[in-house]
Amino acid sequence: MRLAVDEEELAACVSCGLCLPHCPTFRVTGEESASPRGRIAAMRVTHATDGPPEPELVDFLDRCVQCRACEVACPSSVPFGHLVEGARASLAEAGYGRRWPRLAYAGLGHHRLLLAGSSALAVAQRVGVVPRRLGLPRLGLRRPRLRASGTDAWLFTGCVMDAWMRPVHAAVKRVMEATGAGVALPGAGSDCCGALHVHGGLAADARRLARRVVASMPGDAPVVVDSAGCGAAMKDYGRLLGAAEGEAFAARVMDVHEWLAPRLDRLPVPRRLLVAGAGGPVAVQDPCHLRHVQGAHEHVRTVLSPYADVVELDDEGMCCGAGGAYAVMQPELAGKIRSRKVEAVARTGAPVVASANPGCAMYLGAAGLDVRHPLELVDWALAPGRPDGWRPEATGRGSGGGR
Ligand code: SF4
Ligand code: SF4
Repeated sequence: MRLAVDEEELAACVSCGLCLPHCPTFRVTGEESASPRGRIAAMRVTHATDGPPEPELVDFLDRCVQCRACEVACPSSVPFGHLVEGARASLAEAGYGRRWPRLAYAGLGHHRLLLAGSSALAVAQRVGVVPRRLGLPRLGLRRPRLRASGTDAWLFTGCVMDAWMRPVHAAVKRVMEATGAGVALPGAGSDCCGALHVHGGLAADARRLARRVVASMPGDAPVVVDSAGCGAAMKDYGRLLGAAEGEAFAARVMDVHEWLAPRLDRLPVPRRLLVAGAGGPVAVQDPCHLRHVQGAHEHVRTVLSPYADVVELDDEGMCCGAGGAYAVMQPELAGKIRSRKVEAVARTGAPVVASANPGCAMYLGAAGLDVRHPLELVDWALAPGRPDGWRPEATGRGSGGGR
């Protein structure tokens, strides 16, 4: 079965194994089939033969969290992300793999429906009918209203993050405005960036969503993104859409920390964050799509360090296991990967974790950590008149509110 991959890219792996220690699924299983090298070998066998794919290939790829740590470690520059996305697209098109994600992801492209469903879920949490084991964050009954304040930069709002964690968008917008920038909000059609669809091999759905996102934010202003997974996907629109329009749009996309770092001197004099009151420093968790894909993780430290004592985890940026929908699809493996991250956080002694990706924040929050978006912390440090303490309002922390 021919896979939709570049043959030169598929051939680039020299099986050296240097990526293996950086692969979270290999680290927790020790199995070659759960390593980048094993997955590439299985892709090659399938790609070289006619007929159905290798029976194990779907499982091998399903167990990949798509963190892309292997890409950074690889001396041969094997673009593993391209390979796994192409292979998964071919398998999905041929009818292999799970079908329910297509249905689940379809809802992400209908934002009003998502907002209504999320409101219903928030009510269900209050009456205690949402099992805690689902690990959902406690959703707000009301969402802050976002209003455009200018045209200097767009703030992409997206799907689940807007429905479940809009207070983070509000905090990000306040910080952007505190630099003197006017913030524009996307027009109709900016429902979802399509990142989960790309990961799931649903390339046609991802392209449809991406075209709508591009159309929703016209002009030349930067497109600022406060979700690492969305930002990584949108920076790859040139490849996804295969058109000059996609390339031009992708060149405007910036992670919010990347946008803010050179503008820090425009912010008011920092009020040192209340880390002492909270009992310690802030541990930074690097979302894989910020660190391995966008390479923008150092900006988080630049942005946070005037306001907080930043401490590093000692796990070399290993994935937390969230991986978009990975934690739902592969709960056992994801849980083992997350346990290592929770232990790394515990070793720092930090009471608060800063994470720039909603999926990571929710998944680590469900394990009992207090996880905040870095700009929530900056907003809190800048906000005048608020009393000391960590929680101006509850956002995004793991709490099903039910049984
Ligand atoms: S993307 Fe992550 S989980 Fe998948 S093979 Fe590479 S390092 Fe392993
Ligand atoms: S993906 Fe890169 S690092 Fe991993 S085995 Fe192949 S060549 Fe070596």
